[in-house]
Amino acid sequence: MIGVIGAGPAGSFAAYQLAKKGYDVKLFEEHHYIGKPVQCTGIVTDGIKEIFTPKKETIVNTIERVKVHTAKESCEIKLRRPDIILDRTAFDQSIAHMAQDAGAEVLMGCRFTNLEKKEKEIKIDIQHTKKNEKKSYGVTQLIGADGPNSQVAKSAGIFGDRVFYYGAQATIKGNFDPQCYEVYLGNVCPNFFAWVVPENEHMARAGLATLEKPHQYFQSFLKKLNSPTVCECQGGLIPLYDPKLKTEKENIFLVGDAALQVKATTGGGIIQGIMAAKALADAIEKNKSYESEWKKVLGKDLWLHLFIRRMMNKFSDQDYDYMLSLVKQQRVKNILESFDRDYPTRFLLKLGITEPRFASFARFLF
Ligand SMILES: Cc1cc2nc3c(=O)[nH]c(=O)nc-3n(C[C@H](O)[C@H](O)[C@H](O)COP(=O)(O)OP(=O)(O)OC[C@H]3O[C@@H](n4cnc5c(N)ncnc54)[C@H](O)[C@@H]3O)c2cc1C
Repeated sequence: MIGVIGAGPAGSFAAYQLAKKGYDVKLFEEHHYIGKPVQCTGIVTDGIKEIFTPKKETIVNTIERVKVHTAKESCEIKLRRPDIILDRTAFDQSIAHMAQDAGAEVLMGCRFTNLEKKEKEIKIDIQHTKKNEKKSYGVTQLIGADGPNSQVAKSAGIFGDRVFYYGAQATIKGNFDPQCYEVYLGNVCPNFFAWVVPENEHMARAGLATLEKPHQYFQSFLKKLNSPTVCECQGGLIPLYDPKLKTEKENIFLVGDAALQVKATTGGGIIQGIMAAKALADAIEKNKSYESEWKKVLGKDLWLHLFIRRMMNKFSDQDYDYMLSLVKQQRVKNILESFDRDYPTRFLLKLGITEPRFASFARFLF
C-alpha cells in the first residue's frame, strides 16, 4: 500500500494518478473537511489545462489583464490566455474526489505524526484528530504532500533549511474591474509584492507576502486601498524553492509545497505541485528516480524563478520604476503577452535580446 499524507492539490493528484495505475493508495488528511482553511489566492494560468482541466464549478472568475504598479509607474499587460481564479475549497475537493473515484481511500481527520523504517516497509503513525486515537499503518512507499511545514520531511530527516514567506490575505468589498488583477511592486511590500485579484465586480482577494512583519505591511496595504470592508482574513506560509533540497529518500518522497516546488517570483505552487505529482506517479510505476523526473519538467524554470526573485529582492523603488518603463514598450509587452509566465525559460532570452537594457539588472547578482 502507498501512503499519501495531505489532501491538498499535490497529494490528491498523486493519489489519483497512482490509483488510476492500479496501486492500492490511502490518502490521509488531518482536517475533517478538504480544502479548508483556505490559504491561497487561487490564480493559475490557463497552462493548468495541459495537465488537467479544472471543473467549471471550481472556477470563480477568469481574468484577461494584469496591471502592475510601481512607486511612479503603472503598466497594463494583456494575458496570453485568461488566468483562472479558483475556488480553492471546491478545487481541492474535486481532485480528492477524482482520487476516490479512481480507487484511493481518503481518510479524514487523520494526522501523520511519525514514521519508522522497517526492512521493506515504513510504519507510519496516524493520530485521529477527533477520537484522540493513534493507529499505525505499514506502507511500501510514503508520499509527503503535507505542505510547507511537512512533518513527513521532518520525520524522514529531509526538511532542510527552509526559508518561508508569510502570506497575508483578505477578501474585500469594493468596486473592481473583474477582468483585471493588480500587482504592487516596491516598498509597499519589500522582497515580494502585493495583489488585488477580483472574484467579481464587488469582491476581491487582496494580499501580500513578506519575509517579516506581514500584519504590519498588510494593514498599510489595506490603507493604500482606502481601507475597504474586510470580509475574511487568511494567512499561510509560502516556501522559497531550494534546488538543493532532497525530495526523495529511498521509498519516501516529497511533493508540492512539502518539496518547495513553488515559483519564487509569484509564490504560486498549484500547477507545479500537480506536475510533480504526475512525475512522481510515473517514476514509481517505471521504477525511475523521482527527483530526476520532476526536475526534468520543472527544475530549470523553478531555478530561474529563484534567480529572478534573488535579483528583484535587491531592487529599490527606482529600479522597479525603471524595469516597468522598459516593460511598457510595445515590443517588450508583445513578448510578455505571448508567453506563459510559469515557464521563464521559454521567453527570458527573447526578452533580453529585444531589450538589452534588462541586462543592467545583472549587477544585482553580485
Ligand atoms: C497567501 C497565499 C496565496 C497563494 N496564492 C497562490 C496562487 O494564487 N496560485 C498558486 O498557484 N499558489 C498560491 N499559493 C501557494 C499554494 O497555496 C500552494 O503552493 C499549494 O496549496 C500547495 O499545494 P500542496 O498540495 O503541496 O500543499 P497544501 O495545499 O498546503 O496541502 C497540504 C495538505 O496537507 C495537510 N496536512 C498537513 N500536515 C498534515 C499531517 N501531518 N497529516 C495529514 N495531513 C496533513 C493539510 O491539511 C493540507 O490539506 C498561495 C499561498 C499562500 C500562503
